[in-house]
Amino acid sequence: MPGARAHVAQLFVSDLHLDAGAPQAIEQFLWFLGAHAAHAEALYILGDLFEAWIGDDDPDSDKERVCAGLRALTRQGVPCFVLHGNRDFLLGEGFCARTGSVLLPDPVVVELEGERVLLTHGDALCTDDHAYQELRSAVRDRKWQQRFLALPLAARARLADQARSGSRAHTARAVPYVMDVNTAAVAAAHRATAARRIIHGHTHRPGVHEMLIEGRPAYRIVLGAWYEQGSYLHYEAGKYALRELPRAARG
Ligand code: MN
Repeated sequence: MPGARAHVAQLFVSDLHLDAGAPQAIEQFLWFLGAHAAHAEALYILGDLFEAWIGDDDPDSDKERVCAGLRALTRQGVPCFVLHGNRDFLLGEGFCARTGSVLLPDPVVVELEGERVLLTHGDALCTDDHAYQELRSAVRDRKWQQRFLALPLAARARLADQARSGSRAHTARAVPYVMDVNTAAVAAAHRATAARRIIHGHTHRPGVHEMLIEGRPAYRIVLGAWYEQGSYLHYEAGKYALRELPRAARG
């Protein structure tokens, strides 16, 4: 359309859980960067881009391919904003240097066309999961992180594997509501930030939820995970659309 701006859409993804065990997801994400993100105004990654991140000094070749893809995107002039997830909370300055991405705090309020929107990975809203919240405070402690990052890479990789098995066992045992966000925590987040829209991932339950805060509607958009297919949120001209990227269709 003549006169239209070339870059207008803002894209949001989360929970890609990329690692060597998910080659199709890596391929699809690299394709997504070129086919969709390259034409966007900005890409927001709301946590768990990687299944595990054991330090910016990890030379893992699959992770480097993902980093190279992000670096190509940001070099084309598309800003990429990244939040920590519960799997890749150790993404640091080295990752930013490798990719040209900007790490944002979690939670963070951004303005999209004048609307305050709260972005968060989502795990902090799952307050019914007490065991997880305890673990979360422990590993987000700066001293804990310094001690962990001082270990040799092989030891870090071993500990990360153990943590993932522990997490799988915990998820399998917990009743479903415990693994979802707590409604009171969501309402508190809306009130504390005066944001009427929250975008998050983590629960792997994509959808749009409406609630009333002080008699006015507020919205929570949940991003989908990339285990079986790609998934992203497209925002353009005041409209949000959750979109799926079936994998079979791409051959
Ligand atoms: Mn998560």
